[in-house]
Amino acid sequence: SSSNTETGAISHALTIAGSDSGGGAGIQADLKTFSALGAYGMSVLTALTAQNTQGVSAVHPVPPEFIAAQCDAVFSDIRVDAVKMGMLANADIISAVAASLRKYQSRYIVLDTVMIAKGGHALLDPAAVDALREQLLPLASIITPNLPEAAALLGAREATTEAQMREQGRALLAAGAQAVLMKGGHLGGEQCPDWLITADAEVNFPAARIATRHTHGTGCTLSAALTALRPQRADWVETVRDAKAWLLEAIANAERLQVGHGIGPVHH
Ligand code: PLP
Repeated sequence: SSSNTETGAISHALTIAGSDSGGGAGIQADLKTFSALGAYGMSVLTALTAQNTQGVSAVHPVPPEFIAAQCDAVFSDIRVDAVKMGMLANADIISAVAASLRKYQSRYIVLDTVMIAKGGHALLDPAAVDALREQLLPLASIITPNLPEAAALLGAREATTEAQMREQGRALLAAGAQAVLMKGGHLGGEQCPDWLITADAEVNFPAARIATRHTHGTGCTLSAALTALRPQRADWVETVRDAKAWLLEAIANAERLQVGHGIGPVHH
């Protein structure tokens, strides 16, 4: 099986996610990230948000049939090397997306288990967490939960140590994901350690916390970077290493942006 790097082809990345009108997260962050990392970007919209750096003021979910129509249009014509899922809003949308992914398959499926925006607005109906676990975890090549999301998926207490992060990562593997990137930013210390858990390895990706309040869109951006880079790298370890290094630059450069009056976006 030849990778895109071997064939020299530009990798094709698809995001199935919500729109952030303010441009810092969601589909907009994904497409900017795809471009920055050398991938051709495509988008299937699941929901519109009226949003700026101060928060989400309204959400308008896309009808599930129209999400299926967008997937049909893309997959019936265009090669898709890797897919990511971001905001999915509700259980009906999760079912529609799962059906499309089962129909078309894709070599790499990144599931960003988006639940609640930093400002507190729900991006996923809390009643849809079971659907996410049951229908999408088994399709995922990798999932990227932060600590509250991992806890919600497992019906467990939020991890407060790296040992608990690894344990919950293993439990999410057992729940069907092929790999789990447990993101440790919510541990809250000087370090933001991430752990990649797969069937044969547990790999630590350490990083010092960067002092900035402008972290809007970090989760979207990381999962988009994984999606853009995986077809261009040999395995998830190399992919996570390079995606995280790129994200840290984007966070470090966030202060250069002067976008809005709230929690500004990272610099894609
Ligand atoms: N808006 C959309 C459409 C998203 O998909 C996300 C995160 O996935 C957010 C907002 C939240 O971004 P943050 O919590 O980084 O502010």
